[in-house]
Amino acid sequence: MANRVFNFNAGPSTLPLEVLEIVQKELIDFKGSGKSIIETSHRAPEYDEVHQAAMTLAKEVMGLGDEFKVLFLQGGASLQFAMVPLNLLHGGKTAAYVDTGSWSTKAIKEAKKLGAVHVAASSEDKKYTYIPTDIDCPADAAYLHITTNNTIRGTEYHELPDTGDVPLIADMSSDICSRRFEFSRFGLFYAGAQKNLGPAGCAMVVIREDMLDRCKDDQLTLLDYRTHWEKDSLFHTPPCFAIYVIKLALEWIQGQGGLEGLEKINAAKKDAIYGMIDACPDYYTTPVEPASRSWMNIVFRLPSEDLEKKFIAEASDAGMTGLKGHRSVGGVRASIYNAMPLAGAQAVAQFMEDFRKANS
Ligand code: PMP
Repeated sequence: MANRVFNFNAGPSTLPLEVLEIVQKELIDFKGSGKSIIETSHRAPEYDEVHQAAMTLAKEVMGLGDEFKVLFLQGGASLQFAMVPLNLLHGGKTAAYVDTGSWSTKAIKEAKKLGAVHVAASSEDKKYTYIPTDIDCPADAAYLHITTNNTIRGTEYHELPDTGDVPLIADMSSDICSRRFEFSRFGLFYAGAQKNLGPAGCAMVVIREDMLDRCKDDQLTLLDYRTHWEKDSLFHTPPCFAIYVIKLALEWIQGQGGLEGLEKINAAKKDAIYGMIDACPDYYTTPVEPASRSWMNIVFRLPSEDLEKKFIAEASDAGMTGLKGHRSVGGVRASIYNAMPLAGAQAVAQFMEDFRKANS
């Protein structure tokens, strides 16, 4: 048995052991080809099979209809902060954004460089501790952009906003494929792979076909969604290794009972940790409003920063690493993405109980 810790890093983050074992086994000789997949031409049949399977599996797992296509692009989620407005914000239109802090603030900053932006709602008034539901989205907006899960702040949408005919666009970097979503509500959504899907170096971008007609003409080739749509993300060399691991992770998700199965496991995981926070309100506190709690990134505080430091260090010694909150907000953060087993969340909850008893 490999010597593995429970890794609570926010991303890159833990991957399923089963997936890593397949990668390990296939790395030297991929399916009898005498070479690894990262030494294989992206035009070779062996790679093409992986590539097509990753696209098909992603659609199957998310239950996406034929109107959607899954793209695998480089530049991470951050490049999508630019590509979305580059392609879709033009013709004198305004783009609407919901500001839920950190990453969504960055997406807004980028869009403002390219066109008119209207902040349709913001939770800045309460330090981004909730998901705003009162959204003022102009009926003629180019799109409304939301961040479904806020990795740093620990908030998550549990109901999607109704945007009428305005396309809904989402950064789903930290909750994609973690539970069932009404994917048909989105015109476009994207995610850096390095949390719920695979290694860093690849962003999954899912586009509904009608969005292509809205894309601006005369775009730089590589920044044009239509380039990647037409070539199935093979216009140039794609991030082959990341896509291969994503394909294995999608197969693993299917093995967990798909998104429905994962949703049950992920619910049990967050219940274990929030349950402990709620049971000890004098010791553990979360700034996040109950209705906006993230299932993926649980942020909480202890009575003092010294105790937080001690908690993080002792948890690490006990085999639970990566629990330090983001440097911009401090505190503790348990990122419990898909590949974190229930046993990991239960171990943290137990550690919280023991630590509180020993340090009260
Ligand atoms: N959006 C969200 C919600 C994120 O959590 C992150 C990364 N932590 C990003 C965007 C940026 O992703 P990348 O590093 O792939 O550009």
